[in-house]
Amino acid sequence: MAAELLTGQGVIANNLQNYDLCYRSFNWQQERGELNGLPENKGLNIAYEAIERHANSELANTIALRWIRKDHTTQDFSYSSLQHLTSRFANVLVNLGIKRGEKVFTLSGRIPELYIAALGTLKATAVYCPLFPVFGPEPVFQRLSRGEAKVLVTTRALFEKKVKQLLNRLPSLQYILITDEEAHIDKNVLSFPRLMEEAGDEFSIPPTDPEDAALLHFTSGTTGMPKGALHVHNAVLMHYMTGKNVLDFHKGDVFWCTADPGWVTGTSYGIIAPLVCGVTNVVDEEEFDAVRWYSILEKQQVNVWYTAPTAIRRLMRMNIKPRDIYNLQSLRLICSVGEPLHAEAVMWGEKTFGMPILDNWWQTETGGIMIANYPSMKVKPGSMGKPLPGTEAAIAEITDTTINIITEPGKQGHLVLKKDWPSMFRAYIHDEDRYKKCFRNEWYFTGDLARKDADGYYWFVGRADDIIKTSGHMVGPFEVESTLMEHVAVAEAAVIGKPDPVIGEIVKAFIVLKHGFTGNEKVQLDILAFARQKLGAAVAPKEISFIEELPKTRSGKILRRLLKARELGLPEGDISTLEKS
Ligand code: ATP
Ligand code: MG
Repeated sequence: MAAELLTGQGVIANNLQNYDLCYRSFNWQQERGELNGLPENKGLNIAYEAIERHANSELANTIALRWIRKDHTTQDFSYSSLQHLTSRFANVLVNLGIKRGEKVFTLSGRIPELYIAALGTLKATAVYCPLFPVFGPEPVFQRLSRGEAKVLVTTRALFEKKVKQLLNRLPSLQYILITDEEAHIDKNVLSFPRLMEEAGDEFSIPPTDPEDAALLHFTSGTTGMPKGALHVHNAVLMHYMTGKNVLDFHKGDVFWCTADPGWVTGTSYGIIAPLVCGVTNVVDEEEFDAVRWYSILEKQQVNVWYTAPTAIRRLMRMNIKPRDIYNLQSLRLICSVGEPLHAEAVMWGEKTFGMPILDNWWQTETGGIMIANYPSMKVKPGSMGKPLPGTEAAIAEITDTTINIITEPGKQGHLVLKKDWPSMFRAYIHDEDRYKKCFRNEWYFTGDLARKDADGYYWFVGRADDIIKTSGHMVGPFEVESTLMEHVAVAEAAVIGKPDPVIGEIVKAFIVLKHGFTGNEKVQLDILAFARQKLGAAVAPKEISFIEELPKTRSGKILRRLLKARELGLPEGDISTLEKS
């Protein structure tokens, strides 16, 4: 076996043991070199692993997808029915002449057609790209045009509101398939249900090279213009492995990932990982609503719940004890991703649900979870956990030309990952230069700063772009924000560096108060004193502003660059992913 080519995968393979998926990937890599072509029935395809494998097994009648409509009614799709529906969609694409590697986009809420289109696209060896439905026409245009979309699946309302006006600017977009239209509108705007009805429900997945492009994902745009990260079918190794090790999927589990597929979490873990692991995946059509969420956990008897700090903080703010109201006995594991999870929130989980919330770290570019507090290890609240098997992380000092790995525990530096893990992005579309700049020697630069402690746990410090330089100190926003959150009046906090002629930058905090507190001078002074006492004068904020809501991306990340631009009266930059409240 060409082990030297497959370092990360070797560890993953050992970890997966009885599962033949990774061996197929290995064999393929060997054979590809020798055969110089695509042999029959070989290769590795995400949709095969997610559906066909189960539909042809004793899991055929297990519920793969349980869809909860806005009105709370549900619709179930077994692995077998999903197999036929996705095969129909793959046939639709083939009938329309869509070829390997061409891009199929969706722009819709969380409706079954989105999931069918995603998996059907992968079956047809085309590339799937989800768009978040609340984007305005311009962000939709940017992504469709940069991604060279050939097909777009959307609803009539979204088509009329956001897409129709763009058509003459999108020459490569050939077909628009409308999910809620019974008849074709014209020769390019077609009825999704009608095409599905006319297509056959059997489809044989063509040989798929594990290195074939599978998914295109735009980043959250927290630090600037969103980048289009391209992933390949081999990523499924990571989806499977993290599904098993981090989300702890077991036979019969019901899983709920609250992220929208418009963000990578909603695809890697809201579609692929649970299906690859053969569990039941709950999809809620509606947006965040605390009462609704708790009743979903209860009614659907969710075992594993994957959510984000922004939602957790909103639930914390409500100050209720859900276990007094809801029966949450099925719940076994809660995981969080997207932003740092403050130790406060981890412990709130312990108090509220009887289990700590397990933080894990990854990004669009990594395609899957890389660092985690996973269930089989000791949790360190406030840390991101440890790198997963097959993942090598390190803390490094970086200059324009050098990279120096820091071995001393506790020292802050750039978080880097040893490259070539299966779900690593293979390109930023139309930005080869930027892609290349992410790598030096065998290391990938994540753009995040962190620390590694003596036990091997990683602690998030901040994004390199958000770091504050004050009086010769490098201050990471996370540490300051976590401390502010410990104050009784503080619901949410974000800090930025505000230029100062004497000390470089001062730390300025924006604070959302808990219900029942008002932002008067007394509260302000109290928070400033509290922070100074905890953090020391050099690191503590010198200024505070109270604010109703922090500006956030649609994926729930605090947009510190926007707070800074507004504070300094500078242009706001790309705000296509800003959540409008
Ligand atoms: P852009 O790259 O466009 O600025 P983004 O980095 O926010 O946007 P994503 O790929 O969705 O886009 O987010 C990944 C980033 O989110 C990570 O690089 C990190 O900064 C942050 N993040 C994710 N999970 C965690 C976590 N558990 N702890 C701390 N930060 C996290
Ligand atoms: Mg990023």
